[in-house]
Amino acid sequence: MNRLISPLLLLLLAVAGQSVCAEQASVQGARVWTDPAKTRLVFETSSAITHRIFPLDEPDRLVIDLDDARMESNLPKVDLGDAVLVGLRGGVRGGSHLRIVLDLKQPVRAKSFALSPNERYGHRLVIDLTPKDGSGVRRVALPSFPDSSLSKGAGRKRAGRGSPVVVAIDAGHGGEDPGAIGGGGTKEKDVTLAIARELAKLIEREPGLEALMIRDGDYYVGLQQRIDMARERRADLFVSIHADAFANANAKGSSVYTLSYSGASSEAAKWLASRENSADLIGGVDLSTNDDLLATVLMDMTQNATIEHSTEAAAMVLANLGRLGVVHRNDVQRAGFAVLKAPDVPSILVETAFISNSEEERRLRDRGHQRQLAEAILDGVKGYFRKYPPHGVLVDASPRSGSGGGGAREYVIGPGDTLSGIAKQHSVSISALRAHNGLNDDMIRVGQVLSIPEDS
Ligand SMILES: [Zn+2]
Repeated sequence: MNRLISPLLLLLLAVAGQSVCAEQASVQGARVWTDPAKTRLVFETSSAITHRIFPLDEPDRLVIDLDDARMESNLPKVDLGDAVLVGLRGGVRGGSHLRIVLDLKQPVRAKSFALSPNERYGHRLVIDLTPKDGSGVRRVALPSFPDSSLSKGAGRKRAGRGSPVVVAIDAGHGGEDPGAIGGGGTKEKDVTLAIARELAKLIEREPGLEALMIRDGDYYVGLQQRIDMARERRADLFVSIHADAFANANAKGSSVYTLSYSGASSEAAKWLASRENSADLIGGVDLSTNDDLLATVLMDMTQNATIEHSTEAAAMVLANLGRLGVVHRNDVQRAGFAVLKAPDVPSILVETAFISNSEEERRLRDRGHQRQLAEAILDGVKGYFRKYPPHGVLVDASPRSGSGGGGAREYVIGPGDTLSGIAKQHSVSISALRAHNGLNDDMIRVGQVLSIPEDS
């Protein structure tokens, strides 16, 4: 019976829908997000909208025609540094239609898709622009720091050593997706980026460690793309940073999460994971062309080992956050976070604090507190790498190499290493190295940890 009625109902609904659509749609908001790989335009509309896109050259432009629509918002300003866009202008076409013209710096490839309403937005039309010559298509995944001396230092460090340990730092949310919003208006996406930048700075100062910023600006990166970037750069650890909200405004403290395929460690963890996983819907990922997005990754031996490592790293970070202040839960939490699904990169998600708690919201905005959070995460990360040192990598054995800490440094022997090579690399004599480590000859084995004496 039901089956017979349904098509009829659908037909009626379609007719009703059409009569509603006959009313002109309004564009209620327009935004531009500039990221290193592309420029994203978002139009928020009162209903689903029919559109066409075509390019014009000499000069390069892109025309967006919106049928039966009117503009009810200002066109957004464009970042001067945007790779493709100069600006937007719009006008009425044929009485009831809307035409928006994009003035371009160069020819672009344009892709458009519609997004259905969700908890945060109504109908949206998204247009992604990438330079046609392909220069901006591949994401340049290097950390960028406003402080140029730091960048130079980092370059020198990279040049001097074979393979640094790479820590992927994932600032949660961004661009269209603000994440949670505190009572005072603080956006999670801004707090996570600030903490991520602090952490990157600290990591770049550590010998042998290198930071990879997954996002370094106010734009959205899809959850699967975050994983892909970390894997592409062969990251040794993936740290996703968040500051979420909870229904209970009294909830406070830090928590650290790892991936679970078999249920969550608590109802709250499950709720949080589903909330974080909906970021793609809010941030604007074209799910229709991303079949494998959020698809279950085959569980295998590699992944078991990855989860074990992730748990170790999470426990170390949680312990260090505990030193800083209150922790929300005393043990590592588990849930099905999509962003932690790299099969071969140990991954953790740090909920630094509850932005829904007014006291914690205030602290999250504080530069000094952001730094303290970053330091605690760094100490946990270093603790993890001391326990699981990637081969041939120098690990600073002091808790934190602040000024004048002077802690001993360790070198983990990798394949092909020789005692003379290590001595030369660290500007110490072989005899000093032998004496320092109680070695009678030059025999060393892979995995052995040598203590490097201070420069004389
Ligand atoms: Zn979040």
